[in-house]
Amino acid sequence: MDLNQRENNIKAIIKLEDRIFQCRRCPSLLHCSSKPGTGKGDLVPEAVIVFECENEHNTDIDWVVEMRNTVQKYLQVNAVYHSFLVRCHPKACWLADTIPCRVNDPLLKADNTCRLSKKNCTGIPVKPTDEAILNCLNYIIEELAIFQPENIILFGRRVSEFVLKAYGILDTIQDRLVYHHEGTTFITIMDDQFFHPSVLKSLTDILDTEHQE
Ligand code: SF4
Repeated sequence: MDLNQRENNIKAIIKLEDRIFQCRRCPSLLHCSSKPGTGKGDLVPEAVIVFECENEHNTDIDWVVEMRNTVQKYLQVNAVYHSFLVRCHPKACWLADTIPCRVNDPLLKADNTCRLSKKNCTGIPVKPTDEAILNCLNYIIEELAIFQPENIILFGRRVSEFVLKAYGILDTIQDRLVYHHEGTTFITIMDDQFFHPSVLKSLTDILDTEHQE
């Protein structure tokens, strides 16, 4: 284990997360976000998984452990980390929509209680807009630049499209494909609602075939 590398990565990630916590680029998302999503896992990762934003799967520890075990098994790596394309999770909420847009203060407390209703948040998670993705894209690109992992797994069509384009890969992105760029292997998984180990198995089969050629 390279201790210097780990220390450098920890310092760089702390600085990055400080900026993410201070970020106010998307006022409408900040209303209903108690805390932006930040990366988790080994800080000298061999594989990084990028999700669109926090959801019911990737905030479920059992699901995350299963996902990591699958990645470790099929990519034959030990150190896995996951992070998000958009940090503040968008929600649909009629109550938040009544707030004038000039009010930027968060409505959600750390315990998930809404300051307006005084009850637990009932907002419905929705997909982030392209504008939110573009606002937030630099954070995941910076995070990947800190780690420079050998493998990056892009979870979902929009994650694949936005991240690959940021790396200058402008191909039409197809389902379950593998891309190489300056020593990094990008693996795209298009269906972000359903994940089964067989999906990753089929992708690593492509990698094996490439190595044999
Ligand atoms: S979603 Fe990203 S860009 Fe928008 S306010 Fe949150 S951290 Fe900033």
